[in-house]
Amino acid sequence: MSSSPLLQRSLRSVWHPCTQMKQHETLPLVPIVRGEGAWLVDADGRRLLDGVSSWWVNLFGHCNPRINAALREQLETLEHVMLAGFTHEPVVRLSERLAALTGHRLGHAFYASDGASATEIALKMSAHYWRNTGRPEKSRFVSLAGSYHGETVGALAVTDVAIFRDAYAPLVRAGATVPCPDARLAGPGESAADVARRAAAALEAHLAEHHADTAALIVEPLVQGASGMVMYDPEYLRLARALCDRYEVHLVADEIAVGCGRTGTFFACEQAGIWPDFLCLSKGISGGYLPLSLVLATDTVYAAFYDDATVRGFLHSHSYTGNPLACRAALATLDIFEQDDVLVANRARAERLGEAARKHFAGHPAVHHLRQCGMILAFDVETGASDFARRFFSAGLEHGVLLRPIGNTVYFMPPYVVDDGEIAHLMDGAAAALAAALA
Ligand SMILES: *Cc1c(COP(=O)(O)O)cnc(C)c1O
Repeated sequence: MSSSPLLQRSLRSVWHPCTQMKQHETLPLVPIVRGEGAWLVDADGRRLLDGVSSWWVNLFGHCNPRINAALREQLETLEHVMLAGFTHEPVVRLSERLAALTGHRLGHAFYASDGASATEIALKMSAHYWRNTGRPEKSRFVSLAGSYHGETVGALAVTDVAIFRDAYAPLVRAGATVPCPDARLAGPGESAADVARRAAAALEAHLAEHHADTAALIVEPLVQGASGMVMYDPEYLRLARALCDRYEVHLVADEIAVGCGRTGTFFACEQAGIWPDFLCLSKGISGGYLPLSLVLATDTVYAAFYDDATVRGFLHSHSYTGNPLACRAALATLDIFEQDDVLVANRARAERLGEAARKHFAGHPAVHHLRQCGMILAFDVETGASDFARRFFSAGLEHGVLLRPIGNTVYFMPPYVVDDGEIAHLMDGAAAALAAALA
């Protein structure tokens, strides 16, 4: 079957994300017609193992029968209703279950559709909290070097990735950045926890000077995704939590990528034994089916908005806030976590992923900083090629794997359904792609 008419039409009418469209003069689009478990099938029948969970959203495979069944049932019941003045069973059940997963420390769920909106909601809620409590000057934000919290103009204020931010710098009210506790920065004899303590000292210096006008610190707990799977010690989160308490600054945990079990616990923050004041979820929460994001907030935050005065309320809204189909997909996703004891099963799966990666890459002369956090695995490649990522991606497709390096960092973030054979296929494909990209 020839797929080229579809590709031509796509290039004429679809403006693809995160893409210099001109590069598609030489790099063909991949037309996907079907998904099955961890696999995507293209128009020529070629099967690709989805090693990046379709941009980190898919948890339990494509066209998962259990999520499909829940969605079919929901489709026949209620597809959507506005959430201002109305409510429905899926959004209530989802909010209750998420609150329970935080031990009811974050018991109030506010909904949107994408991750960047969740970031903006958390920032707006934080600043509005301080305004409602008589401290309107607390309206600045702090993020870590290399942070990524989304690409809308508001979210870019706390996103420190030059390629996404620089062109829009004049539009953005940029926040402050403090050093990242990147474990790769450890000097001789230093541990990841030492790096964390060093970074926390820099955070303390910043907050000591700026706490009076700082509303919140926002972090990607344990793993900074978009800047290249930068991993750090949970000690940083413990110290940051204590500093935020001491200086009266909110802590926002952006768990959009690391939540829903990616790092080994349902929330990454659990590994540090702390809870933030706001927690953002998106990506995996709907199983990778439908756009859904949310911000979980504490009783204290919620209470500061609860008032006779309308303007003290949080008046933010999106048309599809709390969409019943998306919430139902999320409920089916949480059901699978429970029924299949997914976090326990993933411990063994992550171990096998790590073993397979070490077998192929640990001694490789061009590979550095092989690292893993739960179901996220990455390494850096030493190469002079400026188009390494594209070469690796294209070679991967030829070997039946979808892997999309970030710069010179190759990473694996497969759905939680990959079996041993699929892990072997993924690593064999990656090894072949690496050889081709370095050739
Ligand atoms: C993907 C991502 C976002 C943005 O989510 P979108 O749905 O793409 O807007 C925000 N924060 C983190 C950590 C992410 O990985």
